[in-house]
Amino acid sequence: MKFSIVSACASAGEKLVEVTWNDQHKSRFHTKWLRFYCRCKKCQPELKGTYLVDIPAFPDVLTVAKVDVEEKGGTINVKINGELIAGHVIQYGAQWLRQHCYCDACLDNLIDKRDVISKNGVSVGDMTLPEVEYQNLLDDPDRNVFDFCEKMVLHGFCLVKNVPCENNKSLEVLRMLGPIRETCYGTRFDVNFSGKKHGNNNEVLLPFHMDQCSYEQPPGVVFLHCLKFDEIIRGGKSRLTDFFLVAETLRKESPEDFETLTEVPGSWDTYNYNTEHPAHQEHQKCHIVTDYFGKVSTST
Ligand SMILES: [Zn+2]
Ligand SMILES: [Zn+2]
Repeated sequence: MKFSIVSACASAGEKLVEVTWNDQHKSRFHTKWLRFYCRCKKCQPELKGTYLVDIPAFPDVLTVAKVDVEEKGGTINVKINGELIAGHVIQYGAQWLRQHCYCDACLDNLIDKRDVISKNGVSVGDMTLPEVEYQNLLDDPDRNVFDFCEKMVLHGFCLVKNVPCENNKSLEVLRMLGPIRETCYGTRFDVNFSGKKHGNNNEVLLPFHMDQCSYEQPPGVVFLHCLKFDEIIRGGKSRLTDFFLVAETLRKESPEDFETLTEVPGSWDTYNYNTEHPAHQEHQKCHIVTDYFGKVSTST
């Protein structure tokens, strides 16, 4: 829909601008929000991370001096009292402004649209395994890397089929997604059967877990390259679970336990003294973190 502004006026002691749209929707923008998100060349630097506007130098309370709607509702101009850039007029196009309306209804709508987690909570029986072919990633990276990323975002995992059984091929695929983060184990860590009685270098079943939890920010994507060495080898079954769905199920079935896991932190540690980069990590955080809107944002 093409949005246009029917009318706009200052309110709440001139600290807000109220906008009425051509679909009857009403938005209220704070004067500070309008001033400091201004999209004009005087305010928006070409390079992110640089600042053209000295925000702390402005008055604590910003009030509207004048509001105009132009171009048949396609643009809004706002002047404020206490402006520090000579002759500056805040100007917004109607489409951009409407897309950024932060009223409860618009935010709810936006959150709902982006909620891939609770919407994709399907049981494995109903699900086609998300997968891409290694060769397709190489032959047509633009199309297939996007497909790969989309599947990762929607499902939280994706199988890359037929990656050659060579040690560094997995890194080649990973680099298509972005830079690789190193951990105290280096860029790559090999899980080999070594007969040890601890860790993951043996044939003992590993329970569901997340890797690298002792990091303040664990890796967002972990890539496991499963190599098959010989037809006679049996086992090697991998199981995945969706922690977000687990958290949402817990919230429904046992709200008090859910609350506890959002409030009482757990501890994670890694002591790794016998590697090239010895590490001693201890970190404390909650198993479940919810955002401002109550949605599960992290689950460990
Ligand atoms: Zn500006
Ligand atoms: Zn709105």
